[in-house]
Amino acid sequence: MFQESHYDCLVIGGGFFGSILASELAGQGYRAVLCEKEDGLLQRASYANQARVHNGYHYPRSVLTALRSRVNFPRFTSEFQPAIVSDFRKLYAVPRRFSKVSARQFRLFMERIGAPISRATASEVKLFNSELIEDVFGVVEYAFDAVRLLAICEERLHRAGVEIQTRTRVESVHAAEGGLRVVCTSDGDHTEVHARRVLNCAYSQINELLDHSGLPMIRLKHELTELALIEPPPELRQAGVTVMCGPFFSCMPFPAKGLHTLSHVRYTPHATWQDGTGPYTNAHDWFAAAPRRSRFPHMIRDAARYLPCLGRSTHRESLWEVKTVLPQSEGDDSRPILFRRDHGVPGLTCILGGKIDNIYDAVAEFTVDAALP
Ligand SMILES: Cc1cc2nc3c(=O)[nH]c(=O)nc-3n(C[C@H](O)[C@H](O)[C@H](O)COP(=O)(O)OP(=O)(O)OC[C@H]3O[C@@H](n4cnc5c(N)ncnc54)[C@H](O)[C@@H]3O)c2cc1C
Repeated sequence: MFQESHYDCLVIGGGFFGSILASELAGQGYRAVLCEKEDGLLQRASYANQARVHNGYHYPRSVLTALRSRVNFPRFTSEFQPAIVSDFRKLYAVPRRFSKVSARQFRLFMERIGAPISRATASEVKLFNSELIEDVFGVVEYAFDAVRLLAICEERLHRAGVEIQTRTRVESVHAAEGGLRVVCTSDGDHTEVHARRVLNCAYSQINELLDHSGLPMIRLKHELTELALIEPPPELRQAGVTVMCGPFFSCMPFPAKGLHTLSHVRYTPHATWQDGTGPYTNAHDWFAAAPRRSRFPHMIRDAARYLPCLGRSTHRESLWEVKTVLPQSEGDDSRPILFRRDHGVPGLTCILGGKIDNIYDAVAEFTVDAALP
């Protein structure tokens, strides 16, 4: 049950973005409530992802995203330090064929954006198939532990005095005197509350709320993704490897489980669709109903051609989640944030962060967006 009938701010979605934005608002003195439809916070995309703290290397075709990552990296790793895992060696390898950048272009780009890069050691290079891999670099890129990130978010929300309503789905929002009327369901019961501002941080479900509220949809692209959770061979236990830039793969530590994720550009997305181009499809419902037949055998078969020792990995389980990106990111694989103020109705802001460290871009937009009336 909600503690109040009127709030300054109601935040939809208790992922990383909703949690941090709700605590920022409450920290500024606004009465804020955070609504999350799952049993707890950070259970969806903020948990089920590759756990990479981006530092620019992943975006050799988008100078803006690479530079923003460089700016956010030191901030994020210091502010969320208890959740940061840095005790592994990170390697980026560039294949001889089918890569959208050559090894030289990759190195020059990283030097230009000031991202530390050096040749991998001879023993590291030997791990790779030299017939397929042109060059291998050692870089500075970390991972985050999603369970520790959750603990930090919970502590902040608590300290800022945010009211948290889990198992509470926001169904729709409607213009009302002095703000918005928000319709929610909680354990089957319908409730209505009033908020002067509503932040829609529902990630892959942003359009679900807009659709139910009769508001214009935002063009978003969704992928039903599988990340294989593996025990890597001993050579890779203290390493992360990304093969760039094209239909290749990444093997990153996943600290929340003490395993590694294996993702493959070709096999990780099981299905892809876009909102705003036809009848609306609810990403989470679609995801829940979709068949989940692991593609780990395909991922490992291809990845082991480039990194033979990876073939000795053991598949433990898979993480399944909907990944949502802006369609305009397709061409250069960029990851800008989506920030739509007063979307369809005054007081409703829709925010989507393409990657975790984009939180700073979202907070900055929100600050510019200014305080409540
Ligand atoms: C496969 C994959 C790999 C990724 N890899 C990386 C990576 O390595 N590094 C990186 O920085 N980023 C990565 N990302 C992106 C990153 O996960 C997201 O940018 C980030 O988690 C988005 O946070 P969020 O809070 O917006 O979304 P979420 O964590 O999904 O939070 C949205 C929340 O809203 C809730 N919700 C939805 N609808 C409603 C409603 N109507 N009422 C109440 N609650 C609702 C959901 O249950 C969910 O908890 C990856 C994403 C995926 C899927």
